[in-house]
Amino acid sequence: MLNIVLFGPPGAGKGTQSERLVAKYNLAHLSTGDIFRANIKGETELGKLAKSYMDQGNLVPDEVTIKMLDQELKKRPEATGFIFDGFPRTVAQADALDDLLKAKNTQISAMLALEVSEEELRDRLTKRAQTSGRKDDADPKVIQNRIDVYQKETAPVKDFYAGQNKLKEVNGEGSIDAITQRLFQVIDQLA
Ligand code: AMP
Repeated sequence: MLNIVLFGPPGAGKGTQSERLVAKYNLAHLSTGDIFRANIKGETELGKLAKSYMDQGNLVPDEVTIKMLDQELKKRPEATGFIFDGFPRTVAQADALDDLLKAKNTQISAMLALEVSEEELRDRLTKRAQTSGRKDDADPKVIQNRIDVYQKETAPVKDFYAGQNKLKEVNGEGSIDAITQRLFQVIDQLA
């Protein structure tokens, strides 16, 4: 099984690049942000809970996020591989993911970490606000909080995978196509 963690700060291009990886490698796409947004739209209990955190640019609590991911994995028993987009965002989530995959007799193949400068991130998120309709893109203070939360709580997840020799850093600046080619190259070297 090919199980990829596509990692990076908000605005790094995880969603855009995930779509391309899914198409090429036939992976099931699990984006925790997309799943939370679908729950908000559907006005579910989970959506109501997640909304208050998301609107501020804070992380939804681990317990809630991990339980949701477990349920999503169980909905796709036939998948031949996964791309995790926006998950894990804390070391506790990374630990839990290892356990969930172990129970399926599989493991993470690699973490692909998109590297983008903070200035470029702010620029991309501000531009994205014009089309995404996302409340958390619309306010510069929330954007800054998401970047700060990333630095403090999420960046350490890179060390977690580096410790397992699974971290692959990829330059996330340049054209979308150029970045896709870099990702393809790293994945093709994994086998
Ligand atoms: P994203 O679409 O990945 O940018 O996520 C949007 C928001 O959803 C984040 O700012 C968090 O509030 C929440 N979220 C998404 N994934 C996670 C996660 N793995 N852990 C906690 N919160 C998350």
